[in-house]
Amino acid sequence: MRQKVIFGNWKMNGNKEGLISFLKKVEKAIKKSDVKAGLALPFTLLEIGINKAKIIDIAAQNVHFATNGAYTGEVSIAMLKEINAKYVVIGHSERREMFGETDETVNKKAIELIKAGMTPIICCGETLETKEAKKTVTWVNGQIKKAYKNISAKDALKTIIAYEPIWAIGTGKTATANDAEIVCQKIRENLAKIYDEKVADQITIQYGGSVNPSNISELMSQKNIDGALVGGASLKADDFIALINYKK
Ligand code: 13P
Repeated sequence: MRQKVIFGNWKMNGNKEGLISFLKKVEKAIKKSDVKAGLALPFTLLEIGINKAKIIDIAAQNVHFATNGAYTGEVSIAMLKEINAKYVVIGHSERREMFGETDETVNKKAIELIKAGMTPIICCGETLETKEAKKTVTWVNGQIKKAYKNISAKDALKTIIAYEPIWAIGTGKTATANDAEIVCQKIRENLAKIYDEKVADQITIQYGGSVNPSNISELMSQKNIDGALVGGASLKADDFIALINYKK
């Protein structure tokens, strides 16, 4: 049985006061279940989130792969470890599009995070243009192959994948549950080729892109979708509660 993982991604939103009341409200309302709930927060909110959250796991939204040095504006893995962060989202399409993230840097970050005992949430996904050219699977499989370069099967099991079609992010256009399932299934087949079926079968694959309380159940009922990475809808406590407590 794969771990079900629903993470909110607050992107560049939120403040301390809001986070504290959000956590209070959400943690009281989360029903005991098999779902791992988490929040990817901006750097300035990480420590307070980690200290206040009792059930919810806290993730960073980025990290640098270098140990330390002259990288103005960057944060290292050791710095995140020092505050007990356990997860880091890497390769989000917004970072790829706007901040120069590449398949190579994603790979370096994944390798270093695993070495440090942390869990990378590796994002992949295609643009509308790629989708319309019917090249989604080739594109996403290419991203995955490069992200897992030089990562052993044992270490691959320490990762999570988030499939986020770029055209579905923040647009209100969700991939249909069936379309998302097909791509996630193809990602799993690709992992079976890179490693083997046993490994492929154990890696959690999340879907992201306009996930909300009304489409979460259908998405989560798909065989190869094990979770969600949620932007907009994770900012409101009531919606986030509904996502975590989704009807099975
Ligand atoms: P939305 O849920 O706002 O579409 O964002 C998805 C996303 O980018 C999560 O990382």
